[in-house]
Amino acid sequence: MLIAAPMAAAAVHTVKSPDGLTAVAVESDAAGKVTYAVTHGGNVMLQPSPLGLYTNIGDFADSMRIVSVDTSSVCRHYTQSRIKHSEATYEARIMRVAMENAAGDTIGVEFSVSAHDVAYRYRLPRVNGGETGAVTVYGEASGFALPAGSTAFVTPQSDAMTGWKRTKPSYEEVYAVDVPVGTPSQYGHGFTLPALFRTSGGGWVLVGETGVDSRYVGSRLSDADSAGVYRIAFPMAEENNGHGSVSAAMSLPAVTPWRTITVGTTLAPIVETTVAWDLVEPLYAPVAEVEPARNVWSWILWQDGSINLADQKAYVDFAAAMGYDNVLVDNWWDTNIGREGIEELVRYAARRGVGVMLWYSSSGWWNDIVQGPVNVMSRSIERKKAMKWMHDIGIKGIKVDFFGGDKQETMRLYEDILCDANEYGIAVIFHGCTMPRGWERMYPNYAGSEAVLASENMIFSQYFADNVEAVHATLHPFIRNSLGSMEYGGTFLNRRLNRGNDGGVQRRTTDAFQLATAVLFQNSVQNFALAPNNLTDAPQEAIDFMKRVPTEWDETRFVDGYPGRYAVVARRSGSRWYIAGVSAIDHPVTLHLDLPMAAKGDRLQVLRDADAAGTLERAELAVRNPADVKIVLQPKGGFIIEK
Ligand code: CA
Repeated sequence: MLIAAPMAAAAVHTVKSPDGLTAVAVESDAAGKVTYAVTHGGNVMLQPSPLGLYTNIGDFADSMRIVSVDTSSVCRHYTQSRIKHSEATYEARIMRVAMENAAGDTIGVEFSVSAHDVAYRYRLPRVNGGETGAVTVYGEASGFALPAGSTAFVTPQSDAMTGWKRTKPSYEEVYAVDVPVGTPSQYGHGFTLPALFRTSGGGWVLVGETGVDSRYVGSRLSDADSAGVYRIAFPMAEENNGHGSVSAAMSLPAVTPWRTITVGTTLAPIVETTVAWDLVEPLYAPVAEVEPARNVWSWILWQDGSINLADQKAYVDFAAAMGYDNVLVDNWWDTNIGREGIEELVRYAARRGVGVMLWYSSSGWWNDIVQGPVNVMSRSIERKKAMKWMHDIGIKGIKVDFFGGDKQETMRLYEDILCDANEYGIAVIFHGCTMPRGWERMYPNYAGSEAVLASENMIFSQYFADNVEAVHATLHPFIRNSLGSMEYGGTFLNRRLNRGNDGGVQRRTTDAFQLATAVLFQNSVQNFALAPNNLTDAPQEAIDFMKRVPTEWDETRFVDGYPGRYAVVARRSGSRWYIAGVSAIDHPVTLHLDLPMAAKGDRLQVLRDADAAGTLERAELAVRNPADVKIVLQPKGGFIIEK
């Protein structure tokens, strides 16, 4: 369909999802502002919210006039490894709105609306009669106006060039949970994506972005203005030690990344969405497919002192005993083990059916990191030499840490590392980094990102174990881990988080909680925080579970929960379901789960807390009514149901 008739000034242009439930209404007012609003089943999800771009080829946010609207449909089915579902169908209605500014130049805004997801991006043509082929985007007017009385589940953007060796920002801040919309951010820099909102009407709205590559910046949300509108904000000037532009540069014609808005009257669409991957395509073919993997890493419990050949061989033996795929050798291996030592380790591991992954710093001139190797991943010349060496000796993957922020030149570094690593058949994990934005699909050798206050913080401070771990675990399935793989490095079975299991931070969550996170936290390459002593000092049922838990999933379903309190998610691998629950509530709660994957008469295998002290117990759950399966969640406890 093409509607090219001249538009009346105040016309409303509406596009609805194929099922008719989700609707976007685009409107321009007499003052020249163009807005979009989102409803789902008649419930207001976003009130009229601003659109537009500020660029060096013109202002496309003020004095705008809609000149044409056309609509079309898309339906595609795809398979995808390394995310929450192994296949997905994306069926959407598309509306392209052409807008003209006061100078007579046009841009387009393209909406793609599926059952529970709204996405939009801007299209910029060549201008000046086709003469102008480059644009700098200074910023976006793009906003998100939550209904008055809504609440936010958001994580603040940190100051730049602060924290460990001046490596922030790295998406490792503590969430503000269920706070009124408009609550100022902790550091005054707004919030990192994704951001979850509960509307005053009881709806859920998850705001994210996807399709960000070397041709744009990574965005965040501003603090809300006095009208409660959050805006897309570009990187801070101080990131990358103050070096590099905060604007985005593209060649024309161009499209921006997609802004995504997932909506629902329950949390199911939030947990189950594939919008981050529905709208992007692979940017290159994989030289070698990234295999799902279960790894162990000595650094998490044994720390820097374990980066020596003897300790790494002990972890190889441990990985072999678990039937795991790799050991990850963390920082300082270049000086403390050396390349010849790594080659010996790879041979030792290969004889035991275990692979080796290696840590690198991303830096570079953007922080003060001394942990080696440094100055390798930051430059193509050194990077390719290292990757050739790794390829020749059979290294499976790399973990690249401590990136400089979200400026376009850092997005280019992420892409360059991924693309170079692909040439050598190497999988890539990012740490100290930005959140992924469709990268599992765009970069076939991408294997996950940290971008979360991860397991290491439980080692660093009792505060996180006491106050943060359980609450955050109930947030991730609805926020950070909904829109991208999350390399958390968790599942501790040590009660004390040190090498001897006899000192350091005391774990406050139960064994069942820890096991549940192996399912709840999705990343196709998992670096579990298990230690060799767990073979003898952890409950046998826990070790047996960690030997059988998969890391690649065919399907993911929301079961129950409320972000910040508790979360229950079901994931399927082949024909087997794993239903994982965790709680941050300070008293036992009895849940009544609706488990459509179960049937009357089923006897489900359960790992749970026998008591509030967290004694791990294996039990059988006889299903009388699959729509009402009772299970008790203990404080900072959890469970796994298997079918
Ligand atoms: Ca980190």
